[in-house]
Amino acid sequence: MEELVTMIKDGALNDIQEALQQGRISLEELVRSYLTQIEETKSLNIYVEVFEQEALSKARQLDEKRRSGLPLGLLHGAVISIKDVLCYQSHVVTAGSKILDGFESQFTGTAVQRLIDEDAVIIGRTNCDEFAMGSTNENSCYGPTLNGLDPTRVPGGSSGGAAVAVERDTCLVSIGSDTGGSVRQPASFCGVYGMKPTYGRISRYGLIAYGSSFDQIGIISKNIADISKVLHVISGRDEMDATSLDLPPCSIVDRAEDKRYKIAYIPEVLEHEGLNPVIRSSIIGKIEELSQNGHQCTPIHFDLLPYLVPAYYVLTTAEASSNLSRYDGIRYGHSTTDSSDIEEIYEKTRSDGFGKEVKRRIMMGTFVLSVGYFDAYFTKAQKVRRLINNKLEEIYKSFDYILLPTTTDIAWEKGQIIDDPVKMYLSDIYTVLANLGGYPAISIPVRSDELNMPFGIQLMGDKYQEDRLLALSLTIT
Ligand code: GLN
Repeated sequence: MEELVTMIKDGALNDIQEALQQGRISLEELVRSYLTQIEETKSLNIYVEVFEQEALSKARQLDEKRRSGLPLGLLHGAVISIKDVLCYQSHVVTAGSKILDGFESQFTGTAVQRLIDEDAVIIGRTNCDEFAMGSTNENSCYGPTLNGLDPTRVPGGSSGGAAVAVERDTCLVSIGSDTGGSVRQPASFCGVYGMKPTYGRISRYGLIAYGSSFDQIGIISKNIADISKVLHVISGRDEMDATSLDLPPCSIVDRAEDKRYKIAYIPEVLEHEGLNPVIRSSIIGKIEELSQNGHQCTPIHFDLLPYLVPAYYVLTTAEASSNLSRYDGIRYGHSTTDSSDIEEIYEKTRSDGFGKEVKRRIMMGTFVLSVGYFDAYFTKAQKVRRLINNKLEEIYKSFDYILLPTTTDIAWEKGQIIDDPVKMYLSDIYTVLANLGGYPAISIPVRSDELNMPFGIQLMGDKYQEDRLLALSLTIT
């Protein structure tokens, strides 16, 4: 019993696999411990559905497989939760929206399938902001998830459920999605690791679309080694997603490298008045520490900083308004019952099914794509995105990493920011950069006694360099 408690609290997959192999624990017992933990944390509203019986029977099956000496998958022993935006055949998926009420996936998305193929147990689907739009998890039709470290605070979003699920030991690893920070920001608010790989590294087949040219599946865990293993399993070319990279899967990183890197940081970011001073001094401290350890840390000028959030919101709302046009009351989930003609079905279903934030974004997106404004907003934002990319390409010619805070502050109090959407959008300033450029980035947790809540240090690596990014993250921790 004690062993199980330590396993779910501090266990990395390696320890779990060792304990299973030596017969000290069974997978069924392990799944039961996670289920107990899920029960005990129910008030935090982490899961929208727990696959209890299914997870237990899968665990028994895998126990049998191990005991009979059959070859085991790489993720044998890994109990994983999936965000409510990932399709899993014959399971409901709703993207936290009433408009997908009761909708059952017709197929399993590639990432989830690859987890299952390597013997992972999927324990449930986690709560999130509606269609992954938000930074607090307060936009879910199931009500907000609360921060496990302080339930008066939000867990961040949109993958808030996923971050709390890991932080409160209800699973080993969570799979989320990151369009503009939705894996890294909640990881930062909850004191765990959150990583978004290079755009196209993980297939988006079976991920409900928000902004297709930004969306990327991301991984949340309490340790780097497990992120690396899961990334190895789910990354790689998939013919069902034409934007997936034709590269071999990322390799498994489990130890720090004894290498010295060139790290850039942006003084304007650190001097920004909106940045919590404790976060500022901690980042400065980290830069000094890295320099003392032989890394070369250099300040760089990034004059496009004020354009990141506007470009991100013009482009993602445009893509979202187009992606969400498919929810018409005919093809998926919720449909109004009291309408006489097709126009009215569309109108009533969408008015009733979408929440406030999603409607706001559909309206913004439709506006920036409309005939009279297309060039002024959409085309302009595309040009800004190009400039940002040029700048990043130039930076990565001379540097290996950019070091940034993940967020401007620690987790907000519930209700503190939700009614001020512009303020909420602006808070995404440090995370959207990686998505605008399609670069890999990770949030590394920092504990602060002074603030009494954690925050994240963010490292953004060059494209396709996830292995190196994870190796440096191991040194920094
Ligand atoms: N907070 C950002 C937004 O609302 C990021 C969301 C995400 O990454 N899915 O768009």
